[in-house]
Amino acid sequence: MELTGFTIHELQEQLKNHKTTSRELTRQVLERIKRVEPKIHAFMTVTDDAALAQAEEADQRLQSGRPVSPLTGVPIALKDNLCTKGIRTTCSSKILENFMPPYDATVVRRLKETGAVLIGKTNMDEFAMGSSTENSAFGLTANPWDVNRIPGGSSGGSASAVAADACAAALGSDTGGSIRQPAAMCGVVGLKPTYGRVSRYGLVAFASSLDQIGPITKDVTDCALMMNAIAGYDPDDSTSANLPSADYTRTLDRDLTGLRIGIPREYFIDGMDAEVLYAVKEAIRTMERLGAMTREVLLPHTEYAVATYYILATAEAGSNLARYDGVKYGFRVKPTKDLLEMYMKTRQAGFGPEVKRRIMLGTYALSSGYYDAYYRKAQCVRTLIKSDFDEAFKQADVIITPTAPTAAFKIGEKTQDPLQMYLSDIFTISVNIAGIPALSMPCGFTKTGLPIGLQIMGRPFAEETVLRTAYAYEQATEWHNRKPNL
Ligand code: GLN
Repeated sequence: MELTGFTIHELQEQLKNHKTTSRELTRQVLERIKRVEPKIHAFMTVTDDAALAQAEEADQRLQSGRPVSPLTGVPIALKDNLCTKGIRTTCSSKILENFMPPYDATVVRRLKETGAVLIGKTNMDEFAMGSSTENSAFGLTANPWDVNRIPGGSSGGSASAVAADACAAALGSDTGGSIRQPAAMCGVVGLKPTYGRVSRYGLVAFASSLDQIGPITKDVTDCALMMNAIAGYDPDDSTSANLPSADYTRTLDRDLTGLRIGIPREYFIDGMDAEVLYAVKEAIRTMERLGAMTREVLLPHTEYAVATYYILATAEAGSNLARYDGVKYGFRVKPTKDLLEMYMKTRQAGFGPEVKRRIMLGTYALSSGYYDAYYRKAQCVRTLIKSDFDEAFKQADVIITPTAPTAAFKIGEKTQDPLQMYLSDIFTISVNIAGIPALSMPCGFTKTGLPIGLQIMGRPFAEETVLRTAYAYEQATEWHNRKPNL
């Protein structure tokens, strides 16, 4: 039986009832990767041998009658900015080309504890800076729905792999939209959890006050199952929230009667793609039919979100990336006449153009004389954006918007114009600035067959409400059952 298209919960049923083995499943997934990789290039590294060994172990656990997790034996892919002990972790950057982390990220350790099979590391925009995966130093990733188009970014490899059935599910990271936007472009589900919900220990830092790790999956149930494995307090991450973490599957099937949905006027702007607008409005009507009540809410500082983000994120990135100097990590240019020249040549040759642009922007925003004008002001606007959400969530339990203003664009279409690229995240960025959770899921297709993403935002730590809204909509629609023809 062909298993690569199965969801985690379908695989769980197969594995628990011994209808198949993790070994067989893993073998099929590795075959599938071989077949589709020449078309999509979603992976940086495929860990065949380690995966097959983990599959053997999972089979023993499944056979032994010992307690198993829904993830036991299930092949999962990891974005290449998550540290994996002894497995190359590049961030799709030349500067980390040969970096072998000496430890596992907390999320990786937790997945291993469930008995999941870790199948490989996925391609991304260099250091997670980008919206199309075209900023990878190791070649681009294609969208399985149309290989001439981008898969979104920066977690484009993870989203493309899930959509192409090259893994059952994947992890991504999201600083300004990097889980949700590629999930939208590839027609899969992606959740950015509340800041602090999932440990960032072992996630290579981009902008530490905005970064969160989260799942990219084939459906909403799988998203909840992945959250069960990765969420929760971690003393190794000082920003991790010390709150009990729920069983996210438990409340999935509560109905939507009485749920208050907020529709922010600022997200339904002129110039938005008509097919995206139509699909999102239809989705809102479906939720009303399911018993939800909708009302307009205001998020008046939305127009400042992109500018605020590009000051805060670049300032943090400039500081975080100072550590790549050729001394402690892999890549180094040599010979050089002295230490300073070694730093300069290593950074010159090791970073790609977008990363350099961000370091320069961030350094500028933090430099004396400009700090007050840019960085401090951006911090103030951040507070205003956060209070917009606090106000809106007094009147609404969830807020619904499109995930991105358009469906997947063509490869090369925006690479010459950074500002156009930055605007692909116009609907996702505020969520990171405010630290709230948000999910993207498919809500329709363009006439040319490209997926369209719906975004559901929630109050801080209200992932359960977000997931339950998504689940109800998914049960009422068929979008998640469509597969690309690769
Ligand atoms: N596209 C945004 C950026 O380039 C967000 C990236 C992300 O979330 N990692 O910064």
